[in-house]
Amino acid sequence: MSLRYRGRFAPSPTGPLHAGSLVAALASWLDARVHGGEWWVRIEDVDTPRCVAGVDQLILSQLAACGLHPDEPPLWQSQRSPLYEAALDRLVDAGHAYPCGCTRSDIAQALTASGHNKPRHGELVYPGTCRSGLRGKPARAMRLRCDEPIHWSDRRLGPQVQNVPDTVGDYVLKRADGLWAYQLAVVVDDADQGITDVVRGEDLADNTARQIQLQRRLGLPTPRYLHTPLVLNDLGEKLSKQSGAQALDLHDPLAALREAGRMLMLPTFDAQTSANWLAQAVPAWRTLWGTVP
Ligand code: GLU
Repeated sequence: MSLRYRGRFAPSPTGPLHAGSLVAALASWLDARVHGGEWWVRIEDVDTPRCVAGVDQLILSQLAACGLHPDEPPLWQSQRSPLYEAALDRLVDAGHAYPCGCTRSDIAQALTASGHNKPRHGELVYPGTCRSGLRGKPARAMRLRCDEPIHWSDRRLGPQVQNVPDTVGDYVLKRADGLWAYQLAVVVDDADQGITDVVRGEDLADNTARQIQLQRRLGLPTPRYLHTPLVLNDLGEKLSKQSGAQALDLHDPLAALREAGRMLMLPTFDAQTSANWLAQAVPAWRTLWGTVP
């Protein structure tokens, strides 16, 4: 029997949970509970230079303090390189992935020469220079060949389309420093773990087309997606460690849950404990976001 619903929360241990990341954790937990499904936690620690020692355990204890307990022991992406390697090999064998020898300045120069030097979120759109071979340059990164726009549907945002070739270009699967790219690791793990539903913040929605494209190239199923509203600070910036978001105060998990619930547009509940608050939040979530199309 195939599983009806398995969700996950996939934090990067670059800093403790803050109000914004608790919203994603809570939303994915509530959605799993509403659907009688499982909720797993995966520690996304592939970008090792950005990870902070001990923060993985801190995040797990913050979740536990809020009453958010995973149904299976968490996984760490840093221990799963062989899976990513196997997926990359399959993509290379099928002609979907290729080595790239370009440095950032090579890419910038090629874009300037073709009059297309318009970075997107600070990222340069890769012009496909190494698609037809390295021309003697040493291989640095591995990239996925992107040829078509991707249409997908989000439970909250509705139908979406992204022209990946024009907006991102052939994107990196394995970085020049040898680290696995988020896109590859997340796609391999969601499929390997049998994740049916991805519930995460809207700041990640922009990655979804790339992830769906990779799923298709690897012959993997596409989960359902629900991207929750962005949590902004008083200056209208996305809450993140970089924008100075405070770590959650573990002394008052109920207050943290109430605040996360407010950001998810849940009503206020008369609850004295986290457990009681969560019990009331489940039916409220069903009313707001419960339908899986
Ligand atoms: N690890 C990613 C982050 O913390 C989230 C990945 C995901 O939910 O797909 O931003």
